[in-house]
Amino acid sequence: MSHRRAALPAREELEAVNVERRRLTTELDQLALTQIEVATRQKRYEDEAQIVATRIETDEVRLYSGEVTGLRDLQALQDEITSLRSRQSDLEDQALSAMEEAESLASKVAALSSEVELLEQRVTALVAEIESAESEIDAQLETVRSNRGDLEASLDRALIADYQRLRPMFGPATVVRFDAGKCVGCPSMMPAMEADRMKHASEDVLPCDECGRIVLL
Ligand SMILES: [Zn+2]
Repeated sequence: MSHRRAALPAREELEAVNVERRRLTTELDQLALTQIEVATRQKRYEDEAQIVATRIETDEVRLYSGEVTGLRDLQALQDEITSLRSRQSDLEDQALSAMEEAESLASKVAALSSEVELLEQRVTALVAEIESAESEIDAQLETVRSNRGDLEASLDRALIADYQRLRPMFGPATVVRFDAGKCVGCPSMMPAMEADRMKHASEDVLPCDECGRIVLL
């Protein structure tokens, strides 16, 4: 029954559920690190795009201020603004793609988290199931133990002591049958009185007064 206790199917399932739960938890930890990396990247692109936007504003103010008059300088300023706009657009695209990545990560995290939550509920249920099955098995074991105790108590202690004392002397013929009106262990016929005493005894087991063996009646 101790083996049955160890091999409880619920115990096996609990082990499998815990393995899966640890695997998902590790995956969630990794996803959390990726989320931080992606959020950092998104912030960096947004910040850079903001710096470029400020620079474009400054350049545009200069362009229309009348401060810059030379055609070549005006052209250079115009080219710089064009190149900055292209850079701004790239940065905004990258920030957007980081944001999309963050959204996809967030939904993956949500799905995994609810999976982990279900596994945790299963763990709680299995632990309760195992505890209840174990206490049932323990109760059965206790019954077996106490039945064995009753059996030992019901055997005549004196008889057990006799057997242990006689066994070295008589070996396998320590306990013998009573057959054909005599103790099988006695080398010769028993005195009639002794045979008669055994034949009519109310006990199931008696010591033989002649040979000293234990006789089953
Ligand atoms: Zn005898």
